[in-house]
Amino acid sequence: MQNSRMPQPTVTSTAKALTGPQKALRKLGLLRPIDLALHLPLRYEDETRLVQLRDVREGEVAQVEGRVTHAEVKLGGHRQLLVTLDDGTDTCLLRFFTFYPSQQQALAVGNRIRVRGEIRGGFAGLTMMHPVVKPAGGELATALTPVYPTVAGLPQTYLRRAVQAGLARVELADTVPPQYLQDIGLQPAWHLRQALSFLHNPTPDVSLDTLQDKSHPAWQRLKVEELLAQQLSQLQARRARARLRAPVLTGAGAGSLFERLLAALPFQLTAAQRRVVDEISQDIARPVPMHRLLQGDVGAGKTVVAALAAAQCMDAGWQCALMAPTEILATQHFAKLVGWLQPLGVTVAWLTGSQKAKERREMLALITSGQAALVVGTHALIQDKVQFHKLALVIIDEQHRFGVAQRLALRDKLGSQLQEPHLLMMTATPIPRTLAMSYYADLDVSTIDELPPGRTPIVTKVVNDSRRDEVIARISDQLAQGRQIYWVCPLIEESEALDLRNATETHAQLSAALPGVRVGLLHSRMPTAEKKAVMRQFVSGQMGVLVSTTVIEVGVDVPNASLMVIEHAERFGLSQLHQLRGRVGRGAAASACVLLYSTGDMPRLGETARERLKAMAQTSDGFEIARRDLEIRGPGEFMGARQSGDAMLRFADVIEDAVLLDWARRLAPLLLEQHPALAEQHVQRWLGGKAAYLKA
Ligand code: ADP
Ligand code: MG
Repeated sequence: MQNSRMPQPTVTSTAKALTGPQKALRKLGLLRPIDLALHLPLRYEDETRLVQLRDVREGEVAQVEGRVTHAEVKLGGHRQLLVTLDDGTDTCLLRFFTFYPSQQQALAVGNRIRVRGEIRGGFAGLTMMHPVVKPAGGELATALTPVYPTVAGLPQTYLRRAVQAGLARVELADTVPPQYLQDIGLQPAWHLRQALSFLHNPTPDVSLDTLQDKSHPAWQRLKVEELLAQQLSQLQARRARARLRAPVLTGAGAGSLFERLLAALPFQLTAAQRRVVDEISQDIARPVPMHRLLQGDVGAGKTVVAALAAAQCMDAGWQCALMAPTEILATQHFAKLVGWLQPLGVTVAWLTGSQKAKERREMLALITSGQAALVVGTHALIQDKVQFHKLALVIIDEQHRFGVAQRLALRDKLGSQLQEPHLLMMTATPIPRTLAMSYYADLDVSTIDELPPGRTPIVTKVVNDSRRDEVIARISDQLAQGRQIYWVCPLIEESEALDLRNATETHAQLSAALPGVRVGLLHSRMPTAEKKAVMRQFVSGQMGVLVSTTVIEVGVDVPNASLMVIEHAERFGLSQLHQLRGRVGRGAAASACVLLYSTGDMPRLGETARERLKAMAQTSDGFEIARRDLEIRGPGEFMGARQSGDAMLRFADVIEDAVLLDWARRLAPLLLEQHPALAEQHVQRWLGGKAAYLKA
């Protein structure tokens, strides 16, 4: 039953007294008519035809007309309205758990009605729960009915009208010259307006499959537009950056900090490390801001590369900042960098949120005066109070865990308005190189594709949770040999409470099973001081077993830990498992990783989980795992995770639409040269206010 008193949708951005649905539209970012027009359906419902009950199948959404032959309110248990509908071919039971007297009237025996809902089977015969009810005999829709992604408080009917209003008002003159569209076989007849109108109101004769898998020309047109916008904006960003000035960081001659650090390291750089150090040196020796992603598998040795870049920055008389996503990780970087650089006379400052006020004041003074040439810390680095003296290089570890806003904030920290700092982003979640190159038109990519020598390979085993006792016996073994063990419990984001129970239960179980062994517990809800204390005990070797949620995910370095058990491994992404696994195998001892999976009451699900996990046992190459992760999860999710929320592509898919991506990459510079006004209009339309963000 549709509510005819629903307020008319309006697309305004005035701040005063927004209604619930208006607020919800804002929440979805649907402010301008173009935003609404580009808010495309998730799927469609077919209200263009009626079906007969004898033809319907369980699970399908059907629209049926018939006569009410029975209606009763059943009391006891759940009060519900039960209505029998007969269309002459069969009957269907309609169930309503909430209903108004007016609805009851509409459903009185003898009335002819039209209902639409999902057909369910069951022993009462065909059933529909809460179908949409209208009087019979009304006109049928002429187009498929779109179903849009929405949020609570924003009904489909309201959203549909808002989208149609946006579509009617939006200016949609083509910005892609037709001759280029022909290059990829797109009919010029699919103008942007035609494509959008079609996707919002497809004609009933269209094959739903081509809409679902986005192979329909209307979808192709949209993908092409989106990819072009993404490439154009990155190209613009690259050109804008090329016009900016950055400090020239040279001076690494004999006796420089760079040379002394290199000489003092207890190891030789690998060839891959030398190569990326060179790439970075060349970038920062130019008066243009570097914008480089350094990717390398877990344990590939990115920290020392960062330290060498910092050394060159300091050699040139400038400050360097290194930001890490968690306090534990920042602590480790700090310890490592102090160990390397303090003996060479460098003052390293330290900033985190949990710091005591006095210490913080001292650190801020060191940073502002420039006495501290290197600053290591967490998000605390980008707070307003932090004033750098002469910041020239910003290094961000695990960059995908930071939002764009945070990266922008750090960039704004450079004292002088005329210059920008160089930016080096590091990640251990590699993306396939070709993808990185074509997708991140605005990023230079360096890759460490070789591990330091002498690493013992990690043996990975996939084990059913029913064999938990054997795993615990294995732990005893390792402990007897003086080794340490990580036991990781999953982090279920929706339910921190469940998370905690999992970790605390396991902690109790292991404590009981391993008398005389210190078993620690680490989870995200603990106060920082407590976390630090636990971590300290584990790092110093006093603690044998550390049970934790994924807070140890990145960067923790305890060479004596030789066994990692991951509980509910089926709940992790492969890349994440790979990261976790990288916490062992850092010393000389042979190391192992046990992936415990549980089938619960779904043995079949368990089987696919096991198959997936076997990929982990078969390879230790992070790039290969990233590739399989891509196959399994699909690039949308993969890239989405990397971008941590700043979704870059909504429609196109960088893998599946590689041909279109390639086309967009080639067209972007041409369009900028030959039709700069169209290019600008295109970017504005697609990215609007977000354009500045995406350039970060
Ligand atoms: P990641 O790339 O995962 O951040 P790290 O920088 O933490 O890796 O390095 C992992 C370990 O390898 C550290 O203990 C580091 O000191 C060591 N390491 C780095 N480079 C080399 C090298 N060329 N030879 C031997 N050990 C190295
Ligand atoms: Mg690291």
